Amino acid sequence: MISITAATLFTPLVRIEQPLLLVEDGVIVDVTSRTHREAPAASRAVDFPDGILAPGFIDIHIHGGAGHDVMEGGSNALPAVEELLARHGVTGYFPTTVTAPLDSTLSALARLAEAIETAENHATKGKSAARTGGSSGLRARPLGIHLEGPFISHVRRGVHPSEDLLLPTAAAFDRFWQAARGRIRVMTIAPELPGAIEVIAEAAKRGVCVSLGHSDADLDTARAGVAAGARHATHTFNAMRPLGHRNPGILGEVLTDARLSADIIADGIHLDPAIVELVLNAKGPDTAVLITDATSATGMPDGRYRLGSLDVEVRDGRCTNGGNLAGSVLTMDLAVRNAMKFAHWDLQQALRLATLNPARVARLEGAGELKAGNPADLLVLSAKGEVRNTIVRGAGI
Ligand SMILES: [Zn+2]
Repeated sequence: MISITAATLFTPLVRIEQPLLLVEDGVIVDVTSRTHREAPAASRAVDFPDGILAPGFIDIHIHGGAGHDVMEGGSNALPAVEELLARHGVTGYFPTTVTAPLDSTLSALARLAEAIETAENHATKGKSAARTGGSSGLRARPLGIHLEGPFISHVRRGVHPSEDLLLPTAAAFDRFWQAARGRIRVMTIAPELPGAIEVIAEAAKRGVCVSLGHSDADLDTARAGVAAGARHATHTFNAMRPLGHRNPGILGEVLTDARLSADIIADGIHLDPAIVELVLNAKGPDTAVLITDATSATGMPDGRYRLGSLDVEVRDGRCTNGGNLAGSVLTMDLAVRNAMKFAHWDLQQALRLATLNPARVARLEGAGELKAGNPADLLVLSAKGEVRNTIVRGAGI
């Protein structure tokens, strides 16, 4: 058993001073305070005297990093992405597809499903459940797939290639579902497309978090999407019909319906800091979510990289294709610090946006929260939200 002590712990719902966190076989056994319980004599003690313990981050929208895209083949891609994620505090993630030729998408979904199953099998076997990369660090775990295209609007497609967009049909959705062996946990869809309402209902029935996005929907159509089962919104404001005060469109629904959670890319480029504050205050600490939308260029120097089947160029933190923003080079630890800075939220509030809230969006039982019985996926942070240590399934300390 490992007993971890620090200055403060955020579960994140509860703040505990002088915390004591016990881990055995990669699972949290107890989360308490040293004023209530002493570390068991037989345990290995690890102390972070001025550290803050928090759950590991969960990113539900990420395309790649460290020079690799999650849709590319080859055995190097995911381990490289996962090591980069872990260095930035992400312990669980949802590899996200971009619109691509149908065959590429189907084969990417099959590969991602296999990676998820391999990670799961690894967790159920043996004592040390954490996987490490070839040479150095720990790796974040793939938890499910986010299907971002192809059921999106031509008008709001961003850089998703128009020739590969598809109209939603139950049959097309089922093809993706079968290829992914049921591992699609999040799906972005434009509710105004013909057939979208039926596909939203079917996906919701299968437990997918249906997320409204890449959409030119008006207010009524967005509401119809929610009535059919949509529960989330993808990179709010980006690739959406703009908000108008007499014609609010989809954003009128996203910002006001408490049943909808909503995510944002808080890199200071995709949204003005004032809009980050607006969205976080509109959705509040229960339903706002941070994503990175990170591309393969994340963690790399300026240059040319891939996003799915697209070429993207990165200069000064902007990732573009033909002059349009094409994903980000944001990391989740920076997103959390930006949420604190832009919206004037404290660390405990900002942490929820990257831990418990995304876990709830993806309906992950036992994730995003430090409590007994959950996997020991946690972070040691500074008071400013800098990642000092990442612990995946009890490994890393
Ligand atoms: Zn994306």
